[in-house]
Formats: sequence, structure tokens, C-alpha cells
Amino acid sequence: MAISGTVDAHVHLMPPRLMAAIRDSLARDAGWTFDHPVEREAMENALRSAGVERYFALPYAHEAGMAADLNEWVLREAAASEMAVPFATVHGDDDVEAVVRNAFEAGARGLKFQCPVQECGPADPRLEPAFDLAAEYDRPILFHAGTAPMFEESPHVGADQFAQFIESHPDVRACAAHMGTYEAAEFLEFARRHDQVFLDTTMALSPRSADVLGFDPSSISDETLTSLSRSVMFGSDFPNVPYPYEEERRGLLDRDLPESTYRDIFRRTAERFLGERD
Ligand SMILES: [Zn+2]
Repeated sequence: MAISGTVDAHVHLMPPRLMAAIRDSLARDAGWTFDHPVEREAMENALRSAGVERYFALPYAHEAGMAADLNEWVLREAAASEMAVPFATVHGDDDVEAVVRNAFEAGARGLKFQCPVQECGPADPRLEPAFDLAAEYDRPILFHAGTAPMFEESPHVGADQFAQFIESHPDVRACAAHMGTYEAAEFLEFARRHDQVFLDTTMALSPRSADVLGFDPSSISDETLTSLSRSVMFGSDFPNVPYPYEEERRGLLDRDLPESTYRDIFRRTAERFLGERD
């Protein structure tokens, strides 16, 4: 089926030098290599030709002292773009309240935490001011909250950490990236029980997932995706995805799900996460 107006809920937009450093570390630690462009306009051309209308532009800060400038950079890029939905980030050792408030005031639509890399996660008390501001400004948070692909030893990820967030911030819309892999069953249960919990499909539901991520997409049934379609949104990790963009959607399209499920996953759930619809 033709999908017009796809929203890709998981794209990384960062200055090319930072992107190069991230790619180096992913190549070193995960053995991944990437053919996709990192410059915004080239990225957007590729996304547009894949039928993407908007994308979440996600930064993350691997050390203290860089988030404020990074957020400003993303917001500036997004201001020149018709496709980018700018997110902001903050590091646990930053002046969290100031960085996040400034970003929200300047138009950031949500927050992104790459928890294991940033070494601060959904239960980290240093991020409390950020979580409170997300509630105050009604902005969602996207966490790399799962243990994939190589973070099973990290104390900053996992279903238990995320559960603490749900408990303490029941009103904040929160997404666990990558379907919460490797604890997808637990994260799916959170989504079943809490309307404000979301999951993105990024790298978890592709025919390449078993290979690249060590996760079997068929462990999540069609029925689960259909019944949770209000909580599941398509994401790709573009441009840091180690295979062709189309592969990311193929796993979903090959399932032959109901059309309304596809409309949710490819667009409406992302709009709900952003607070644009109920
Ligand atoms: Zn990502």
C-alpha cells in the first residue's frame, strides 16, 4: 500500500563532526557501517523520496557541557527545514533545568536521551528537572531505554528503570526506542497498561533485525501491533542505519496489517506522541 505523509519518529540530526564521532564508535563497538548522508539537505532528499513528510530530529549529548549548543544547532537547522521536528537533549551533569527550559522556550518539541551513552536514564534523579519541565510544557520524551544492542550491563537502561519513570511521571508521554529491545515483552506490557507509553519500531521490526540487532521481529505478533497501534510509531535511526532505508519499512509492510494500523504506525501515533492529536 502507498503510505503518504509518513512521520519517521527516530532520525538523528547532528553536526557532521559529532556524527562522524558517533559513527566511529558504532563501527568500533557494533561493527556497523553506514552509507546514508549526514548533511541535513541530503538526508531530507533521501527521506522525502522514501515518502517521509516529517521526522523527529534527535540529538544526544555524550558528555556534559555540550547540550545547550547542540540544541541550538538542531533548532536552527529545523527552522530552515519543512520536515524536521526538533528535539532537544541534556546531560545529567549539565544545569538540567536551564538547558531544558531554554530549549523548550526556543521551540524544541520534545526531549531525547540516549541513556546508555549519556549515562543517565529514566530513573536518574539528576534528570528530574527535565522530566518536570516535560510535564509543565506538555512535551514528550524519547528514551533509548532498552538494553540493545550492547548495553545489557548498563545501569541506565532496562524495563525496571523505565517502570520507575512511569510511576513517578504518569502524565508525561514517554517512548522507549527500538521496541524496548531486548525486553520488548515488558515494554509492550507497559504500553498496554499506560496510554502515555509509546514504542518506536526502529531497527527492531526489519528483516535485518535478527542479523544486525540480534532481535527476532516475529516475537512481536501482528495482533500485538494491531492492538497497540496507538502506541507504536515507525522509526528508522536514519542516517545511522546499517542497511537501506526501505528495509526498515519492509518488515512492517510485509505483515499485511489493517490499513488503519499502518496509518497509526506511520503517522498518527507520532502525532499523538507530539500532542498534535488525541
Ligand atoms: Zn537512534
